[in-house]
Amino acid sequence: MTSLRDIRSNFLSFFEKQGHAVVPSSSLVPKDDPTLLFTNAGMVQFKNVFTGQERRDPPRAATTQKCVRAGGKHNDLDNVGYTARHHTFFEMLGNFSFGDYFKEDAIDYAWSLITGEFGLPKDKLLVTVFAEDDEAFDLWKKIAGLPDEKIIRIGTSDNFWMMGDTGPCGPCSEIFYDHGADIPGGPPGSPDEDGDRFIEIWNLVFMQFEQQAGGDRISLPKPSIDTGMGLERIAAVLQGVHNNYEIDLFKALIDNSQEVLSSKAEGDALASHRVIADHLRSTSFLMADGVTPSNEGRGYVLRRIMRRAMRHAHLLGATEPVMHRLVGELVNQMGDAFPELRRAQASIEATLEAEEERFQRTLGRGLALLDEATMGMKEGDALPGETAFKLYDTYGFPLDLTQDALRARGMTVDETGFNTSMERQREMARAAGFQSGEAAPETVWFAVKEAAGETDFLGYTQTEGEGTL
Ligand code: ATP
Ligand code: MG
Ligand code: MG
Ligand code: MG
Repeated sequence: MTSLRDIRSNFLSFFEKQGHAVVPSSSLVPKDDPTLLFTNAGMVQFKNVFTGQERRDPPRAATTQKCVRAGGKHNDLDNVGYTARHHTFFEMLGNFSFGDYFKEDAIDYAWSLITGEFGLPKDKLLVTVFAEDDEAFDLWKKIAGLPDEKIIRIGTSDNFWMMGDTGPCGPCSEIFYDHGADIPGGPPGSPDEDGDRFIEIWNLVFMQFEQQAGGDRISLPKPSIDTGMGLERIAAVLQGVHNNYEIDLFKALIDNSQEVLSSKAEGDALASHRVIADHLRSTSFLMADGVTPSNEGRGYVLRRIMRRAMRHAHLLGATEPVMHRLVGELVNQMGDAFPELRRAQASIEATLEAEEERFQRTLGRGLALLDEATMGMKEGDALPGETAFKLYDTYGFPLDLTQDALRARGMTVDETGFNTSMERQREMARAAGFQSGEAAPETVWFAVKEAAGETDFLGYTQTEGEGTL
């Protein structure tokens, strides 16, 4: 079995042999970019190179980039524990060409790596191309020898990437692995494509145009390449498991949480162990990159993820803080590849323990209130917004935590009602003299972020599309 560590280093050395500079992952907190919540793709650190403001020599690079998708445009928080393929934190392997090689080489490298070095059987692979991209279609035929029905044309924005409203853009091509007919789900482009049978492993972006402010789209004289492959997804394929949470790394983390929590990862407990392992990674890595829990901005997203994990630990019977006891094994697993994690271990543990201690004071009572409130409810019902608001306001339950708690029972939250209560609170806070920008109580920041939804929260959403492969 190829370990996750070996897959990571095999990927990087494959591209190094092809003249790529191996560049370290950048921080999860994007440098000089207050508009992007967290680094969510490998290309983020190269944005200025793609737009021509910066040059790199050699004009090709390979990375394994730490990514967090738990807010903003790419929010996979609600997928964790429910799909086989989503994490809030993951490593994105990528190769990049800055005006150097283009489509043909990018497809050739990708195909040689996965079918040559990695030895994947060709008949398990299929690809998508942008509907109008005949060039990519023909190249896949020529290089990979795939039959027409395994080169699926997709006309939606899923296969057309844009850095922002203006700037570099172009078609993309995604490589999928078929995990077998016993798993529900259809091929990309089909009505049941959201299942987990066909899993997207690698996305190749062909940056060949520039979108101009007036609406024109011109061809770039020197097109570029940006690719991203989920390390945990390719590891699942190479380790012969379907679910990302069954790869060696997660097995080690979950073995450890089973022991620390004295709870077997089976039945209903399985999803909780997976959520805990995932959230342990995202919260620890965020703290290693300098994010601290707080009531606003990035720090609040961190706190939300922590609290979700803590509720799952509570479900597994934890009555005392446990998250900090899981950090050591994470450092064992990932501290060599990411030394910043090892350096921050002590402070991560201390912060997690303090946060969990604090949240445990209200968690039990909040859950009791939730139980009481849902007593007369049945599947399909929505919890009154006012109750969700009380849970949030009095017990520190972020809205998404309440939603997560209800999901297992098939219930939702009346979000409109929640927002109304929030708005009322906000008015009161304003009347009481809290100006925006002042360090207001938790509720005021929440109000802006959650009542307004993603669109009005300019701070982090101005650059939709950015850093998304
Ligand atoms: P999906 O459609 O499965 O959500 P995506 O199209 O959003 O994936 P991209 O933005 O193309 O993903 O990112 C490039 C690669 O990163 C994907 O092909 C996948 O292998 C990996 N990836 C994306 N999101 C996640 C995630 N939440 N957890 C683990 N790997 C991911
Ligand atoms: Mg996605
Ligand atoms: Mg996709
Ligand atoms: Mg994709």
